[in-house]
Amino acid sequence: MATKLPETMRGQFLHAYKQPYQSRIVPIPKPLHPDDVLIKVDAASYCHTDYVLAQGQMPGLPNSFPHIGCHEFAGTTVSHSAHPSPDAAKFKIGTRVGVTGRAFHACRECFECQGSKDPIAQDEKGYSVHCTRAENNGISKDGGFAEYAVVDARQLAPIPEKLSAVETAPLMCAGITIYAALKRCQLTPGDRVAIMGAGGGLGHLGLQYATKMGFKTLGVDAADGPLNLARSLDTGAQIVDARSEKAADVVEQLGAEDGKRDLGEKGVDAVIILPESQAAFDYGMTLLKSHSKCVIVSFPEAGFHVSSRDIVFRDISIIGSLVGSNKTLREMLDFSAQHGIRAVAKSFPLSELNALVEDYHKGGGGKLVVDMALDGQ
Ligand SMILES: [Zn+2]
Ligand SMILES: [Zn+2]
Repeated sequence: MATKLPETMRGQFLHAYKQPYQSRIVPIPKPLHPDDVLIKVDAASYCHTDYVLAQGQMPGLPNSFPHIGCHEFAGTTVSHSAHPSPDAAKFKIGTRVGVTGRAFHACRECFECQGSKDPIAQDEKGYSVHCTRAENNGISKDGGFAEYAVVDARQLAPIPEKLSAVETAPLMCAGITIYAALKRCQLTPGDRVAIMGAGGGLGHLGLQYATKMGFKTLGVDAADGPLNLARSLDTGAQIVDARSEKAADVVEQLGAEDGKRDLGEKGVDAVIILPESQAAFDYGMTLLKSHSKCVIVSFPEAGFHVSSRDIVFRDISIIGSLVGSNKTLREMLDFSAQHGIRAVAKSFPLSELNALVEDYHKGGGGKLVVDMALDGQ
């Protein structure tokens, strides 16, 4: 056990839906379960899901109010339970860790934990990010918008030396989500992928991953801020303004570049849908060549309208992508460190979380991150 921890911590709490966060001082939570690790939070990133949850539109609602949000954060190990499990003991005091909110206290016994059928989300037998009985930090239980958090050692990934906590936090949901979605496209270097919503939190990371993976990448967006951000990255991806360029014209141009003449062979091999709009979905479907994949990451309340003709006549597969396994998480962090992949992020102190949310609604693109080092200076 660590010593000299303070008794209390500051956190930003949601007291009800559709209300701003409120700062409160509460006792520091205790690691009680053998897999538990108490971390001092160093950085906590804001995700669209935090907004969806605060609006009361999230399946898997908080167990109770007041509630601490944030399911993508990073911190430093400060203590364990009285009898740490081998998984928890691996994280020695002082180890820097990234936390993804998925699968806190995965049960080890459900069909998912005993062997998920999904190779990208599958871990060793006994743990699954899809565990049907697990909780999720920042969603059903408390998350990272506080100075300390109890996390499950099996959720964690050690932070590579080259990455800071502020760089790591946005990768723990946005990074792993887009990285796993790209893996689900099953492309080989030289293939074409389009990312709808390329200037957003996930999209701008996707542009970096996709180009570093060797794919010919098309980044599509439909607003000035995100388009400027996507262009500023200088990834080598082709950036398309969906407001002024028609999908059919883009397909023609790609066909000419690839020396293809028949309509079904022109276009991209996979598209990833990040926005919630039907227009973005339709645009993405038009970009696809026959026998290609549409990977959906967003989940608008009203769903998407899908044309059966696209699926039947053009043989387009539509698949969903939620998260990656802990194994994929570690791979993603190493890939990010190795290739210099970083979220374009703006930092706020914890005390200004509501100002961060206001900034989020301005829609400038990129990620917004609470940097704990900015408080109390
Ligand atoms: Zn998220
Ligand atoms: Zn389980």
